[in-house]
Amino acid sequence: MNTAVAPETEAPTEVPAATPEHTRTGMSKASLKQAYIDNLFYIQGRFREVATPHDLYMAAAFTVRDRMLDRWVKSAQVYKTSHARTVCYLSAEYLLGPHLANNLVNLGISEVARRAGEELDLDFEAILEEEEEPGLGNGGLGRLAACYMDSLATVQIPAIGYGIRYEFGIFDQDIQNGWQVERSDTWLRNGNPWEIPRPKISFPVRYGGHTEHSRDQAGRSRVRWVADMVVSGVAFDTPVLGYGVGNVNLLRLWKAEAPESFDFQVFNVGDYYGAVHAKIEAETISKVLYPNDEPEAGKELRLKQQYFFVSCSIQDMIRLHLNTVGPLETFHEKFVAQLNDTHPAIAVAELMRLLMDDHAMPWDAAWDITRNTFCYTNHTLLPEALETWSVALFERLLPRHLEIIYEINRRFLDTVRVRYLGDEARVARMSLIDETGGRRIRMAHLAVVGSRAVNGVAALHSELIKTTILKDFYEMSPERFHNVTNGVTPRRFIVVSNPRLAELITEFCGHDRWIRDLDCLRDLEEHAEDPALQARWREVKTAAKQDLALWLSQHGGVVLDPQTMMFDIQAKRMHEYKRQHLNVLHIIRVYQRLKQNPNLGMVPRAFIFGGKAAPGYYMAKLMIKLINSVAEVINNDPQVNGFIRVAFMADFNVKNGQRLYPAADLSEQISLAGKEASGTGNMKFSMNGALTVGTLDGANIEIRDEVGAENFFLFGMTAEEVRRKQAEGYRPWDYYHGDDELRSDIDLVTSGLFSHGDTNLFRPLADHLINQDPFMVLADYRAYLNCQDRISEVYDRPAEWDRMSILNVARMGKFSSDRSIRDYAERIWGIEPKPIGI
Ligand SMILES: *Cc1c(COP(=O)(O)O)cnc(C)c1O
Repeated sequence: MNTAVAPETEAPTEVPAATPEHTRTGMSKASLKQAYIDNLFYIQGRFREVATPHDLYMAAAFTVRDRMLDRWVKSAQVYKTSHARTVCYLSAEYLLGPHLANNLVNLGISEVARRAGEELDLDFEAILEEEEEPGLGNGGLGRLAACYMDSLATVQIPAIGYGIRYEFGIFDQDIQNGWQVERSDTWLRNGNPWEIPRPKISFPVRYGGHTEHSRDQAGRSRVRWVADMVVSGVAFDTPVLGYGVGNVNLLRLWKAEAPESFDFQVFNVGDYYGAVHAKIEAETISKVLYPNDEPEAGKELRLKQQYFFVSCSIQDMIRLHLNTVGPLETFHEKFVAQLNDTHPAIAVAELMRLLMDDHAMPWDAAWDITRNTFCYTNHTLLPEALETWSVALFERLLPRHLEIIYEINRRFLDTVRVRYLGDEARVARMSLIDETGGRRIRMAHLAVVGSRAVNGVAALHSELIKTTILKDFYEMSPERFHNVTNGVTPRRFIVVSNPRLAELITEFCGHDRWIRDLDCLRDLEEHAEDPALQARWREVKTAAKQDLALWLSQHGGVVLDPQTMMFDIQAKRMHEYKRQHLNVLHIIRVYQRLKQNPNLGMVPRAFIFGGKAAPGYYMAKLMIKLINSVAEVINNDPQVNGFIRVAFMADFNVKNGQRLYPAADLSEQISLAGKEASGTGNMKFSMNGALTVGTLDGANIEIRDEVGAENFFLFGMTAEEVRRKQAEGYRPWDYYHGDDELRSDIDLVTSGLFSHGDTNLFRPLADHLINQDPFMVLADYRAYLNCQDRISEVYDRPAEWDRMSILNVARMGKFSSDRSIRDYAERIWGIEPKPIGI
């Protein structure tokens, strides 16, 4: 299907030699140089001599953006005239990462741009470093949306990503005295060259008020929603270019503003200050990303945000449809809308409302269209992460939607009652309204009932959905349940972040072929035992470790030895279920062993962490403090610091992640089985040649299946064993008292050694482990230590380790997000690629 040519080699020669290049679109070195000088002068208003580093970056960004706009306009035109079926990805988060390097790779001009930079005497790396990433997401879920945008364009599927243009993204993390300190993320302060404001694409979004029911002349029942607040959503567009193709898709993020024709009379009766207040209130809606992995119960602003971006997006889809092919009856043939978790689930009620109230469609017709438009991706099994909203809040904020949800529920529960006569317990379980305690709307149920397809994000997760949280729904319509295992984009996570590895792979896997078909990595397999490749493989890894070590020494001051030390990395959000504390217990065990036997021959290790804690998550913040406190003691103890060191990288985000993934020897994926829906960090590490120490959880299971059990360090209970142990009554106390080393490790945490004598600081953490331990750290402790000992033994045999590392990379093809997107396209969306040449 892919009609494109290899970009690095052929794109520049596409332009006929006789035609002079346009400076805004030309791909030759000469054009790039001229364009850069022009942009510096005419956009930034600077001569080279007085340009700041930021000016130099902006000129580079505009030079690259110009070349994307050319293809963007062409894509939009082809999509429109061919009436292409389009995917709308609805996501409250996009964790995009820096654009510049990625766009250079996708345009196929990384090398020629680098040479152009050299000739202009520019520091190319410094320009790339200057970019501040848009952190419009918390972690895995937001990063997934960003990987999917890259892959949708690369596999040439017409797509629009819809979301919120938060003014403040995820907070920046500082570490002060070992504690996390949050700083607001002012990513827009210097301007954003990648977005194009579309002030004319804007929609009203209403809140509050009441509804009025009446009959029209034809006798049909009609509803009018009389709101008491209205804000305006304005589109900001970012082009998303695929790799080596002409396809450019659209990321459309909405900014909240006060409505243009602000009506003082209606809202404030001439109250000037009131009107200004209303303006501020409107703009608050897209002001800040909620820094939580999990929903914050009852936060009104959060619900306002969700409805805000959903309403703008659905109105935009209707506008696009009416502008092209037309009647609303075929809306679902033009669009499929994927709900990234329940955050956009209100879309189900919003599309119903717009079709019925604004376009006079009867319920059944509207429901048919709605039901055939949406698909829902579930991202979590953690009960505390399942989103619900109080009926009272809905009534106040979205009274019309509440009516629609009630009616959806009434009709749906009727079908449940007919299907399961007399089973009222089941009816209560499946209801969109949770009647236990205060009445709450179950957003996952709304998403399932309003969607054509439901999917989990890894094989185990998709199975668990069917037997736990959505069991009743699965029993009623099993054919709607699917699995689509997550993936990550090899462009950003290999080519951009690990260029040395990319170059080495290219020698074996064909000129850039593997970058768009990651299964081609298999060609490495037959060379896994070749000492020559192994030696070069090791050089590449060591060089990446050197880069990271240098960076860490300059940012935080920890000195690591990349030559002798194994780099053992755990980088992800801080959360008890991810069990960073299990990792810490292992470090403490090794520390104690070394103290007892200073002559212990051991493989030196650098234990490296990164990750933000939700600002209100006390236990996660205490884990950060513990890691830094253990680091302080170990790194300053000459008896051990030749063998082990501990580093905490502050502000783990996409940009910093790109420094970590290439440098890992060992990837820590140690969540309690059954808790991590998929994980994607596990894939990024493995793609960069790290071996995984992991539980049978999420996509770890599939990674192990692919790379081979003998190339994966498995430990710990299975999800089934966890379930049984929980059912029997888990008693962490017994483990604490039954294992001398475990007890001694936990006791050291509270001994004051890591806290300058304070025996209370870490008490809550230790007590929680001994008494509750909801994520069964103690139950898996011994298996984890044994596994770590095996890992050290293998690391001591470089040929074996290198072979395993090569095989890990060779067998990671499945985990390209291109494969995930093709799965969605074929099995769920029913959508064909629409190739656009360069
Ligand atoms: C990939 C990624 C994640 C997800 O990591 P997991 O290990 O899957 O939890 C979170 N944050 C950032 C910045 C990432 O790049």
